[in-house]
Amino acid sequence: MKHTQKILSLAMAMIFASSAWAGNGKGGPDSSLNGTCVADGTCTANPQGRHLAGTCLTDSENTCLPGPKENNSQNWQGNRQQGSQVNCSADGTCSLLEQPLPEISEAEVMTLSFMREEEKMARDVYITLYEVWQTPIFANISKAEQQHMDQIKLLLDSYELPDPATEEIGVFTNPEIQALYDSLVERGRTSQIEGLQVGALIEEVDIADLQNALAETENPALETIYTNLMNGSYNHLRGFVRNIENLGYAYQVQHLSQEEVDDILNPAVVSRGIGLNADNSQLVATDAQFKPSIKNQNGRHANAAVLSQGDDITLGATLQPDTAHIGQNADLLAVATFTPKGSNQQVMFMRDETGTWQNWDGDLGNLTAIQSQQRLHANQRLSIHQGQLPPGRYQVSMGYRLPDGTIILNGQPMDFSVE
Ligand code: MN
Ligand code: MN
Repeated sequence: MKHTQKILSLAMAMIFASSAWAGNGKGGPDSSLNGTCVADGTCTANPQGRHLAGTCLTDSENTCLPGPKENNSQNWQGNRQQGSQVNCSADGTCSLLEQPLPEISEAEVMTLSFMREEEKMARDVYITLYEVWQTPIFANISKAEQQHMDQIKLLLDSYELPDPATEEIGVFTNPEIQALYDSLVERGRTSQIEGLQVGALIEEVDIADLQNALAETENPALETIYTNLMNGSYNHLRGFVRNIENLGYAYQVQHLSQEEVDDILNPAVVSRGIGLNADNSQLVATDAQFKPSIKNQNGRHANAAVLSQGDDITLGATLQPDTAHIGQNADLLAVATFTPKGSNQQVMFMRDETGTWQNWDGDLGNLTAIQSQQRLHANQRLSIHQGQLPPGRYQVSMGYRLPDGTIILNGQPMDFSVE
């Protein structure tokens, strides 16, 4: 009975939290809401889900009172980028600490320098092809690539590393990139459609290179910049494909897998995370985000989808952990409630390490992990299920648990039926 109550209150809390977020994008903070100082100097424990720049009380709890300054979602976004440490002084105010740069390896330096020129190559190809075809997308995206170059330059400068990029358009230090630039421009000049295909190819290659770069680093400064660049490339790929389709062509993948490109072209709806504090007694705010995906052999489906018994169903998610949790080890979790067809009795399941759904009694303390002690990356992929499912309704949540017991889940469960 106690267990049931616990999960019921968790479910209520989740519903409350997600509807509060969905319904109330703005609105000021309630001044009575206190919170806890976290690493980026913001307050958590604010059920409205916004991080607020706060004032730290110098008690043992490190209590943070929300300040009036940064109480809008714009700043909440800005805070997410920060990830720096907070310093609370004796007079009760807290400020962001100047962080020493995380160590960078020789391999990471090589990759960073390469990425600087790869972004320049993208920019230079688009500038050149804009001159040839005057298609607006080349002008727009070349400006974004300039920003990507600038971001990498900033990091190179902070590490006092040499900049491989030359001033001149179409001239590169790395001979591999030079050869690639030459051949891509040659191809892109042959027709407007080939120009757009070249754009899409550059973005696909860029995404693959950034994925590799992300896989090879645990440096938070690099992870942040590469994730930024990758989100940019997703947008750019979507833009080029839209332009290609507007000219009446179907887009054929050029470098990534069909599945990956499908995921990028039809992005999942973002679900904000919700958090439970260490002893799971109350909700805490988090900037974690989830992109759940429900797929069968016909592609991706939104919540409320009705799938068939014979379908090969793949459930998964990409998650961006809370900024303050990146780099920590965590257990990855997935829980499901299942209501068999023709019944109104909900049964709860949890996924275990062998990929089996086990019955779950609703006690968070008994929750098994899909994977234990995984280092949380800025972008984490989570596979939850593959195969057929019996008829009924499914609500699936996923997330992670920190060693101290804190649990972060997607605020909006995946919700679908099998007939
Ligand atoms: Mn870029
Ligand atoms: Mn790009």
